[in-house]
Amino acid sequence: MAYRIDDYAKIVDQEVMFEIFKSARQLCGKSIVHINSTYYGGGVAEMLSALVPLLNDAGAETGWRQLRGSPDFFNITKKFHNALQGDDIHLTEMKKKLYIEANEDFSTYTHIDHDCVIVHDPQPLPLIKFYKKKQPWIWRVHVDLSHPNANLWDFFKNHILRYDLVIVSHQQYRKKEMPVEQRVIHPAIDPLSTKNMEISEKTIEKTLKKFKVPTDKPFLCQISRFDKWKDPEGVIDIFRLVKEKFDCRLVLCGSAATDDPEGSQTYERVRKKANNHAKDGDVILITSLNNILVNALQRKAAVIIQKSLREGFGLTVTEGLWKEKAVVASKVGGIPLQIRNGESGFLVPPKATKEFAEIIVEILKNPKLAKKVGKKGKAYVKTNFLITRLLLDYLKLVNELICR
Ligand code: UDP
Repeated sequence: MAYRIDDYAKIVDQEVMFEIFKSARQLCGKSIVHINSTYYGGGVAEMLSALVPLLNDAGAETGWRQLRGSPDFFNITKKFHNALQGDDIHLTEMKKKLYIEANEDFSTYTHIDHDCVIVHDPQPLPLIKFYKKKQPWIWRVHVDLSHPNANLWDFFKNHILRYDLVIVSHQQYRKKEMPVEQRVIHPAIDPLSTKNMEISEKTIEKTLKKFKVPTDKPFLCQISRFDKWKDPEGVIDIFRLVKEKFDCRLVLCGSAATDDPEGSQTYERVRKKANNHAKDGDVILITSLNNILVNALQRKAAVIIQKSLREGFGLTVTEGLWKEKAVVASKVGGIPLQIRNGESGFLVPPKATKEFAEIIVEILKNPKLAKKVGKKGKAYVKTNFLITRLLLDYLKLVNELICR
């Protein structure tokens, strides 16, 4: 069910609601199109699912298009994604050609005549070259841009310079040497979605039973695509250390995204590594895509882990905090924007396996500590990272660009 803006009045402050309606009036009758490369499986799809209906409800006619591409195209763009987050890349002319051709091809059957175009992430970045630019174009990049591969960034810059504005998730991702205006907008979660809404203990138990997650022992949980940057193998190392001190289980839940072709290889490596524990039923791997399941796992988990090596923002952290959970996460990318260490969660250097394990054991032994940090985490999310704030940011920004 698509929610209407009014539905959020019971959760967010009146001032925010008033601001939304005021900004919506200014955009009424204008049209916006969002373009990305998957309808499900990651943070971008998650946000667009909530945001697009709300922009429509606000009166801006808003569409959402998905770039199509061959498996080769998504292999290349995954390499680009990895290189943007710091990997090396062998940037051949063939890779560039296939990447650009897929965008050109998409443009031949995709009519764009909107008042503002918002392109998400690297896959559709070159699209701008294949349209008459009659309106403002925004490039919204969601990845951790703290250490981009220089070669790739140079190649991308040719396309980025055509845009009117770039949006990043963190102040530190802005590139001083780039003349295009860059703004920071933080991602957000939808508190009313099936993934984040309140659900009863009965629903939690029923859902976990259906997906064969026993609740006789506490469990740790990481919800993330099986992606090397989320380091699911590292989570198993943490679990082994925790398990020596405290009897518990680990649930790794990661569905596939259509624009991430590396998922199955990473999953296989994790499955092999978890082997013995998986046989005992102490490590549970789940690949189903199901919002209620994610909701139930996050609500029932004793500790939520996010052991990312790079992280643009980390909506899974936001989701855990919203559910008043103790989140133990890497101090990388956008995660420290969400957690104050020791107060509203715990931040650990990404490769400090022992430190992760020690904090988790402390929380498992002291549920009062988990409760205390959980409360603060939720309050912070409520003020800063709910979809209503994101809606307002977009309404204001698009209005500003259209009026320029
Ligand atoms: N997600 C999900 N099921 C899964 C794995 C992830 O629904 O099995 C969702 C997760 O709840 C979150 C989003 O995908 O809403 C992931 O966003 P995040 O910013 O954490 O990472 P990304 O995948 O965008 O790198």
